[in-house]
Amino acid sequence: MVKKIFNSAVMVASIVLAVGLAAVFGILYNYFGNQITTEIKKEAVYLKQAVEMHGVEYLENLDEEDSRITYIAGDGTVLYDNQAEAESMGNHADREEVQEALSRGIGKAERMSDTLAKKTIYYALRLEDGTVLRISSTQDSVLALLAQLLLPAFWVLVLMVGLAGAISLRMSKKVVEPLNNLDLEHPEDNIVYEEVEPLLSKIYKQNKQIRLQLEDAKQQQQEFQIITENMQEGLLVIDKYTKILSGNGSVWKIFGQESEQCGESAYSLNRSEEFRRLLEEGLSGKNSHILLTINEKRIQGIINPVFREETVVGAVVLFMNVTEQVEREKLRREFSANVSHELKTPLTSISGYAEIIQKGYVKNEDIQEFVSKIYKEAQRLICLVEDTIRISQLDEDEVPYTWEYVDLQVMARNIAASLKEKAAQKNVRVFVDSDRTICYTVRQVLEEVLFNLCENAIKYNKEDGVVSIKIEERDKQMKITVQDTGIGIPKADQERVFERFYRVDKSHCSEVSGTGLGLSIVKHGVSYLGGEIQLASEEGKGTTMTVSLPQK
Ligand code: ADP
Repeated sequence: MVKKIFNSAVMVASIVLAVGLAAVFGILYNYFGNQITTEIKKEAVYLKQAVEMHGVEYLENLDEEDSRITYIAGDGTVLYDNQAEAESMGNHADREEVQEALSRGIGKAERMSDTLAKKTIYYALRLEDGTVLRISSTQDSVLALLAQLLLPAFWVLVLMVGLAGAISLRMSKKVVEPLNNLDLEHPEDNIVYEEVEPLLSKIYKQNKQIRLQLEDAKQQQQEFQIITENMQEGLLVIDKYTKILSGNGSVWKIFGQESEQCGESAYSLNRSEEFRRLLEEGLSGKNSHILLTINEKRIQGIINPVFREETVVGAVVLFMNVTEQVEREKLRREFSANVSHELKTPLTSISGYAEIIQKGYVKNEDIQEFVSKIYKEAQRLICLVEDTIRISQLDEDEVPYTWEYVDLQVMARNIAASLKEKAAQKNVRVFVDSDRTICYTVRQVLEEVLFNLCENAIKYNKEDGVVSIKIEERDKQMKITVQDTGIGIPKADQERVFERFYRVDKSHCSEVSGTGLGLSIVKHGVSYLGGEIQLASEEGKGTTMTVSLPQK
C-alpha cells in the first residue's frame, strides 16, 4: 500500500511539475517577446524624432548593437542599416512591416529564421518625409529556449521529484500507519479513518460469528470426547491409507497400547490376518465384522466405511470385548449337551427296568425292588430338571428378587430342620452356631445357597458325622461357614466342583444322588448377592465352605 501511494504521489507530482514547467516556459517566452516589442517600439519612436531632426547622419553616428536599425526609402531602397552594407541589401518594399508602415504609419511583423532557432520582431514607423525607420530585434524560439533551459530544468525536475518522493514516502507511511496498527482482534476499539469503519464493523461481526462457531465446535468436540472416552467400546477412525486419525482410550487399552497411536498405521495395533481382512473390507466400502483374540480376550471388531462423494475416504471401527458373551454362549452349548446327556442316563434306566417288567422277566417278589429303582431314577430326573430350570432362570436373570432384612439364624435353623430326615439317615448331627444376625439380602437366593451347602455337607458326610453352620458378622461382612466332617474333596477337583455337572469321581458319587449343579447354583447365587465363596477341604477329614456377603 505504501508503495502504491508513493508511486501515485510521485507520478502526480511529476505530471504537475512537467505541466507547470511547460506553462512557465510559455508564459516567460511570451513575456520576453512582449518586452522586446515594447523596447523596440520605444526605440523606434525615439529614433524617428532624432532622424527627422538630424537626418540619417544621426543613425550613422549611433552606437547601437542590441537591435538592428534599418532606414528605408519610400520606394523600398535601404538607405542605412547598422548591421549590413545598405547598398548590398535588396529592395525592402515587399516587406510586410514596411508596406504596413508606408500605408498606415506603423508596421509590425514577426518572422522565423530558416533554422527556426530564432524569431525576429520588426517594428517600422513612417517618417514625415515618407521614409521608413525599422527597428528589429531577435528572440530565441521556444525550442532554442528549451534547449538552453533543458539542463537546469532537468535538475529542477530531479530535485522536485526527489523532494516529492521523500514527502510522498513520509505521507504514505503516515497514511498507512494507522491501518498497520489496527487491532483486528478488537476492531470496535480502533479509531481510524471513517472510510475504514464499515470494514471494521464487518470484521467485528465476522469475528463474533467465528468466535460463536468456534465455541460451538469446541463444545461439540468436548461432548464427543466425553462420549467416546466413557465408552467401554474401542473407537478407531482411520483414513483410506489405514492411518489412524483418532481413537478413544478404550481402543488403546484393548490393543494393549500405553499411549495414543494417532498418525501410525492401524496395522501396528494388530497384525493378524482377520484384522487385515476387516480393514480391507471396510476400506473397499463394505460393512464387516470379525472376532479377534487379543490378550486372551475375545474382541468383536465392526467396521463402517466413511464415504465422501461416493468414494471411501476412511472408516470407523468399533471394538467390543465380547469375551463374556462368547464364554456364556459356549457354556450354554455345553450345558445343553450335558443336560441331554444327564437326562438320558436315568431315562434309559427307567425305560430298561420298565421293559424288563413289561416282558415279564421279573418275578413278582422282585417287582417292588424294580419299581423303587424306577422311582429313584424318576426322582433323580425331577431333581435334574428342577436344577436345570433353576440354572436357566439364574442365567437369564428371570427371577424377580426382592431385597429385604433377613434373620440368618432363623434361616439356618429352618434349613437344618428341613434336612433333619436326610441327616438322620446317616446319623449326622447338624449344629447352628449363631447370634441373631440380621442381613439385608434376597431371601430366596440365600436360602438356596445355604440349603445346597448344608445338603452337600450331609450327603458327603460319614456315618455319625457332624455339620456345623456358623454365622458371624465381621468387618461389615456376613460370614456363613458350613463345615462337615465328611469325605472331603481331592485337591485336584477343588477348583472344578463349581462347574456345571461336575461331580468328583463319578463312581464314588454314584452312591450319592446328585446332579452336579448344586455348587454352580451356589456360586451363581453368591455372586448375585455380591459376595464370595471359599472352599477348604481335606480328603477324608472334611470340607469347609465359607460364604462372605456384604452387610448391605
Ligand atoms: P451334586 O449334585 O453332585 O452334589 P454339587 O454341585 O452340589 O453337585 O457338587 C459337586 C460335587 O462336589 C459333588 O458331586 C461332590 O463330589 C463334591 N462335593 C460337594 N460338596 C461336598 C462336600 N461337602 N464334601 C465332599 N464333596 C463335596
